Amino acid sequence: MPHLLILGGTTEANALSRAVAEAGLTATYSYAGRVDMPRPQPLPTRVGGFGGVDGLCGYIRDHEITHLVDATHPFAAQMSHNAKAACLATGIELAALTRPEWDEVTGDRWTRVPDVAAAAAALSGPARRVFLAVGRMHLDAFAVRPQHHYLLRLVDEPETLPLPDAEVVVARGPFSVAGDRALMQAHKTDLVVSKNAGGSGARAKLDAARELGVEVMMIDRPTMPPRLELRSSIEVLDWLDHG
Ligand code: NAP
Repeated sequence: MPHLLILGGTTEANALSRAVAEAGLTATYSYAGRVDMPRPQPLPTRVGGFGGVDGLCGYIRDHEITHLVDATHPFAAQMSHNAKAACLATGIELAALTRPEWDEVTGDRWTRVPDVAAAAAALSGPARRVFLAVGRMHLDAFAVRPQHHYLLRLVDEPETLPLPDAEVVVARGPFSVAGDRALMQAHKTDLVVSKNAGGSGARAKLDAARELGVEVMMIDRPTMPPRLELRSSIEVLDWLDHG
């Protein structure tokens, strides 16, 4: 009997969780535990790190996992590398549920940078009004650029912030273009800093930036290990059927 482990925390993982539950398959959904109130899932759920590659190998063996779908965020590189190593070590099947990158379209004013550190380095100039849409985990990297006014959109209210001039909006996607346009107008945003996450849930800010003529600093994705990449829940179900 196959037992699927879904590494989640994304819109795509949630859609897969629904599809797998509807298909009546045996599966467990895993959250890292980064947010206070993770979304409830229609599958048995576990929360927290596994304890590196060895911990994940132990979890796979103890729970007789036969297939692993890495549906984590494209910037969750550590987890994806661990998943690949643990699947190799235990001999179970691995697939990643991935989404295409966002591409610049006519009217966009993007500058691309290779990683979060490069984004912070590129903000060395005079004060700007920056919509820093990189998530709580990466804010520390921008502490070296305290001259800017930052708009932060976070899932939970932060206890402390490494940025002296920041306004926090607590909200959880998916977001709308009209809502993001209004947010950026209200905050007089003149630069959006975004990770190239892809997908639909967080795209609205880019469409809003284009409509407002606002610049975007786009952070490229980290390198992922080679693995089977699937694009939809249907492709995953098909793979589970035949894998
Ligand atoms: P990461 O840096 O790649 O992972 C760091 C460690 O967190 C991993 O080594 C693992 O700990 C634990 N971990 C990560 N994802 C996990 C999962 N789904 N289940 C159990 N443990 C997990 O990951 P991250 O970038 O911090 O992302 C953490 C979670 O947030 C992921 O589920 C991801 O899908 C979601 N997320 C991330 C972003 C982002 O921009 N990075 C955005 C939206 C959602 P151990 O080594 O102890 O196993």
